[in-house]
Amino acid sequence: MDHQSKERHPAKTCHVCGGARFYYLFSASDYRVVRCDDCGLVFLNPQPSDDELARIYSADYFLGSNIEKSSQAVREIKQATARLYLSEISRYCGPDSGHLLEIGCGDGDFLVTAQAAGWYVTGVDYSATACEKARQRLKNGEVFCGELQSVSLEAEQFDLCVISDVIEHVRSPMDFLREIHRLLKPGGALFIATPSIDSWSARLMRQKWMEFKAEHLTYFDRQTLQTALFKSNFRDVIVEPGWKMISFDYVRMHFDRFPVRVVTPVLNFMARILPQKLQQRHRRIVASGMMVFSRKAEARPQPVLSVIVPAYNEVKTFRALMETLLCKELTGLQMEIIVVESNSTDGTRELALKYRDHPRVKLILEEQPRGKGYAVRTGLKAATGDYVLIQDADLEYDLEDYDGLLEPLVAGRVAFALGSRHGGRHVWKMRQFTKQRGLSLFVNLGHRFFATLINVLFFQRLRDPFTMFKVFRRDCLYALEFECNRFDFDFELLIKLIRKGYHPIELPVNYRSRSFEEGKKVRMFRDPLTWLRALAWLRFLKIDPMRVVERAHATTQTGKESSSTKAGR
Ligand SMILES: [Zn+2]
Repeated sequence: MDHQSKERHPAKTCHVCGGARFYYLFSASDYRVVRCDDCGLVFLNPQPSDDELARIYSADYFLGSNIEKSSQAVREIKQATARLYLSEISRYCGPDSGHLLEIGCGDGDFLVTAQAAGWYVTGVDYSATACEKARQRLKNGEVFCGELQSVSLEAEQFDLCVISDVIEHVRSPMDFLREIHRLLKPGGALFIATPSIDSWSARLMRQKWMEFKAEHLTYFDRQTLQTALFKSNFRDVIVEPGWKMISFDYVRMHFDRFPVRVVTPVLNFMARILPQKLQQRHRRIVASGMMVFSRKAEARPQPVLSVIVPAYNEVKTFRALMETLLCKELTGLQMEIIVVESNSTDGTRELALKYRDHPRVKLILEEQPRGKGYAVRTGLKAATGDYVLIQDADLEYDLEDYDGLLEPLVAGRVAFALGSRHGGRHVWKMRQFTKQRGLSLFVNLGHRFFATLINVLFFQRLRDPFTMFKVFRRDCLYALEFECNRFDFDFELLIKLIRKGYHPIELPVNYRSRSFEEGKKVRMFRDPLTWLRALAWLRFLKIDPMRVVERAHATTQTGKESSSTKAGR
């Protein structure tokens, strides 16, 4: 028993994706920091022993808890941060409050603030001293002492769970998230604040980053945390930079406790000359972390892929495509096919109608063609799958490539993949129209030009950003709004996903280009101009998913009010 608690915990597989290829990065104090080659997760391996962690979490672990005078200042800072979190949470969840669970509640600063804002609160903390203090400060509500899994709370009782600076401390983040999933009501929200290794401070300080320490066992960034949430059935994810409240006083106390050469003496000197009021003023800063919002979704027995097929005047290929699609078996995945038919004049509609009653096909009939982008957007709105793939109704792409493209998504390594049309590593297979060599050269040059432009503008290294073959988690689209109707929609989709923070990987796919005679629908001179305009607009457009969610709440709220006044009359 005693022996066990002295042993460090080595991991054989990655905590998030289960991959076994992780490599040494550097050592932080006495611990090895490694990175998973498959999903990018950074973690300590081996983790510190139980004894080592117990020593770290001694009674004065929480800054200022023993010093009565500083305690008040620390408390004010913590409550200011709590108010900030609560206001962001109400943007995400809407104005209604309910039953809130905080895990790692410490001596209750967040719980007290949340209670004042109308929440009914429950807390869990590892430290008995902290729990006792929290109980004394709360008017009502419960505080449980121990690890989350050991206090065994009843399932589906919370509307909101808050974990602030906690997930990086737990030995198994996936078990932890699954337990939270069990405790939340259907559709309940989860708020996470945690350090992020793609924050500006981590990029700037690299190995010297202050968050690298023995008790921080896992280091997420926005991709890896979203993967962890996705795999434990949380959806509607929004990631924001981590705001925190600080004051000069607070920073000085921190460096007093953990002295740093030059910094500590300078701060102490400034404390003597700065006016008291200025030292205590609260300021909002972007710190080293991120704030992540998500919602509980129901677990499915098998994940679902939505294939979206926009079809307009594709009579020659439509039936062949549909038959191949319907025969296609994907390992571990179910498929729903969403056909958006735009009132073709060549008989495609009649062909599409034959699939109307097929159990795996959703058929959407548009009154008039309004552009391919419009059709895809209509299809996306109807999709219910975990993953989305957009498949043109021509046969330019090879359906055999589905499995290869989907594998990294289903394995949970990436959120977004592009099928790159270069037929393996070194073959340039873009456009080889047999009869029109001059034209094909012109089109290929245009391709290079736009690809370079995109890479420069959006900090990417993509070879083929224009591929129609895109697969991504449907959740990536959450709180994004689209407006392009024609081929510029492909740009809009790609770039908005990139700007929301997803980095696509490129995988080679087979491709046979159609010539313009065969019905390629790109217009040589008009479309490139639309693309240029779209790129300029997408570069400077403000992407603010939280604003979109907030607006949606406001609309439902007005809807409710107007219907209740109607009912009142
Ligand atoms: Zn991994």
